[in-house]
Amino acid sequence: MAVAESMAPLQPDDSHFDPNPVGPAPSPASSRLPEGGEPTHPSEPKPAEARGILTQAVGIRAQHLSRVYGSGDVTTVALSEVSLEIAPGEFVCITGPSGCGKSTLLHLLGGLDRPSSGTIHAAGLPLSQLGPAALEDYRLQRVGTVFQFFNLIGSLTAQENVELPMTLAGVPPVQRGERGRWLLSLMGLDHRAAFLPGQLSGGEQQRVAMARALANQPGLILADEPTGNLDSMGGEQIISLLRELHRRGMTVIMVTHDPEVARYADRVIRLRDGRVVADSGGDRQTARAPVPAPPVTRLQPRDALLMGLEESGRRPTRTLRTATGAVLGIALAALILSIRGASMGRGLAFLAFVALIIAGFGIVNTMLTTVVDRTREIGVLKALGARTQDVALLFVAESTLIGVSTAVLGPVLAVILSRVGGLIAGGRFFDMSPWVIVASVFLALALSLFSGVLPALRASALDPIRALRTE
Ligand code: ADP
Repeated sequence: MAVAESMAPLQPDDSHFDPNPVGPAPSPASSRLPEGGEPTHPSEPKPAEARGILTQAVGIRAQHLSRVYGSGDVTTVALSEVSLEIAPGEFVCITGPSGCGKSTLLHLLGGLDRPSSGTIHAAGLPLSQLGPAALEDYRLQRVGTVFQFFNLIGSLTAQENVELPMTLAGVPPVQRGERGRWLLSLMGLDHRAAFLPGQLSGGEQQRVAMARALANQPGLILADEPTGNLDSMGGEQIISLLRELHRRGMTVIMVTHDPEVARYADRVIRLRDGRVVADSGGDRQTARAPVPAPPVTRLQPRDALLMGLEESGRRPTRTLRTATGAVLGIALAALILSIRGASMGRGLAFLAFVALIIAGFGIVNTMLTTVVDRTREIGVLKALGARTQDVALLFVAESTLIGVSTAVLGPVLAVILSRVGGLIAGGRFFDMSPWVIVASVFLALALSLFSGVLPALRASALDPIRALRTE
């Protein structure tokens, strides 16, 4: 197939390769990364690199799964009494007409949603009984997801997109940089590392998404109509990649309604009206007990802060507009408080309070608009395994630049205005004491933190599936 050229490093002599190495449990993600960067010769990849693609393949057992949406009289039965077993290393295609429950099943298997009844075990974990944190760890460590519409983060480069799941897993920058470059090179995209998704073709974007799906060495790839938005060559490349991963031992579950695409899988499960109506396989059993995933480090505050600052920097006009409003609000509040005798006047204190509220409203408004604009992005972050608090942290971090600039520039502007006002009024009309300056610095920091928290809570509370369906 056409991808063979770019996939050369992914075609090793399989005699070296054991996808489920028996022995001690794998070390944490950060130390499992390949030591080297590029293979010395495309046809001779080092075994360590081959093993670096995945950890133990995931096996799945679903019993009597049902998923009912809605409540009361208005309910939709998306899945009904679905029972199936997928052995580690199988390449399974879920097919059926639109609305038959394919995506719902995929979301349940990926730990993005919970069944209304029935049980799912994946990698030995009882998904249907896990708490939110354990389910987020499962998504981050075990599952790599590929979407029909790629769902790359538009403001991040190809390299940064591939690194994102590793950032969420707390992998140190040098290691995630190395692994990101290596995965992009496996996809034949080294020369596109610094490109934004909008500068890439559909096929290239989907290959970046494949590299991202492999970032944390998953044991299960879930692909939802991965060829649905590609031309035939791009589609062939993605199927070829999925087959290659399967050949290396990974469990691959792909949803498609295209029979041409479905024939590449070893086993086809057909759904209709939320039920399994045909299954061409399913007699393979889980061969060995799953190895527990190592403890995961998770998003570091320093990385969250950097990402937040970069995001503010990528939208300079918005950041500048909001910061200007907040700076003016703080300066005005400080100015009012420094009017001679202001400490006595409740009216003036009230005016200062109003100025602060207006400054805070500006930040809240901008950040809430950001949450709405980036709903889908938040869904993607959660699908990749971001925890609720990670999403909140990223949004709080984004308001940091506005907060710090307000804390510095607000008091400076207040001092300048008080001097100018004093000159114009011809006397000491303002009494800008050091206490008012210190208080306005703290007020600015508290205000921006508070104004950042509200949108952050809103973002982190979004339902990932709804967020993913947002256009
Ligand atoms: P497919 O992927 O096969 O097209 P889905 O799994 O997306 O099907 O949907 C199965 C059924 O569940 C459809 O009838 C769909 O309208 C319904 N459905 C999916 N998600 C929701 C939701 N969040 N709320 C209500 N109904 C939903």
